[in-house]
Amino acid sequence: MQTKFWNLSENSDDVFQQAGALIRAGKLVAFPTETVYGLGANGLDSEAVAKIYVAKGRPSDNPIILHIAKLDELNSLTINLSPMAKKLAESFWPGPMTLVVPRSKIVSDIVTAGLDTVAVRLPGNEYARKLIAAAGVPIAAPSANISGRPSPTTAVEVKEDMDGKIAAILDGGACEEGLESTVIDTTGTVPVVLRPGGITQEMIKQVMGNVELDKGLVDSNRTPKAPGMKYKHYAPKAAMHLCRTEEILYICAGTALAKALKVGVVAPFPIGGCVNKTYTSLEDLANKLFYFLRDLDRAKVDVIYALAVPEWGLGLAIMNRMKKSCGGSIL
Ligand code: AMP
Ligand code: MG
Repeated sequence: MQTKFWNLSENSDDVFQQAGALIRAGKLVAFPTETVYGLGANGLDSEAVAKIYVAKGRPSDNPIILHIAKLDELNSLTINLSPMAKKLAESFWPGPMTLVVPRSKIVSDIVTAGLDTVAVRLPGNEYARKLIAAAGVPIAAPSANISGRPSPTTAVEVKEDMDGKIAAILDGGACEEGLESTVIDTTGTVPVVLRPGGITQEMIKQVMGNVELDKGLVDSNRTPKAPGMKYKHYAPKAAMHLCRTEEILYICAGTALAKALKVGVVAPFPIGGCVNKTYTSLEDLANKLFYFLRDLDRAKVDVIYALAVPEWGLGLAIMNRMKKSCGGSIL
């Protein structure tokens, strides 16, 4: 399949119409969102959604988020919009937050992987909303990477994984956030974070009064409620290790350099002789983490050492992704 590559700008109405028509016709279109690039299909067409699982190599028990362009489009996807979900939606949409709500009959089993709930997001990125509006249907979209790889935050990275497999890629520049959305379960009495993201627990607590973190994320004896959280994810090609302290980072990098290895380092400071990916703040790291990992792959490093960050606020989401990237290798 020849994958079309379209650049987006303010004046891309024609492109959105063509891309929307492809979605309606059951084809896959990758598009920018403020979190990461999404791999979109008509969310009401089971055969189209099935193509997402094939293109990504995604496990079939991992449900997919439906993306909408306007808040009232949530009503047809759920049977019961709770006051909790409504308040969260009004507070954080459009934005990097996904709500898990009871699903209505129009949502198919293939989207929810058989669950009786559906995950819905109203993205902050204007290009994403224009595509959804042009398609005229909710767009089912996971991240546009091959399953297990770091999520793409540029259209070129989508091309690395999806060229020849999908109908089109829309290039809207680099993603503003860089980490996937915060997934919140709204079906209980308290909002429960199933996947940490840019909307932090502190931000949710401020609006809702209380918030919990899914116990499956912190207790390895319990299964995470978001099926996707149990898989290895975001893995660069090189072996990656997370270092708890700067001392450990220096020792590991020095030892690897002494063995004549090509060493990638993700830290707020560079280490001599290494391929350094430095950042200035947690926001900057969240924004560039996946880009760094893909860039270190392109540089063909042998091993990657990343410095751990404090696990609260945005640091919780960053550490959640980095722990998965390194397959749990924390030194
Ligand atoms: P992604 O594949 O990056 O789009 O991530 C979507 C995340 O949301 C995955 O971890 C899914 O398992 C999770 N998810 C999607 N739908 C549901 C649902 N109905 N209930 C719980 N988690 C969900
Ligand atoms: Mg993903």
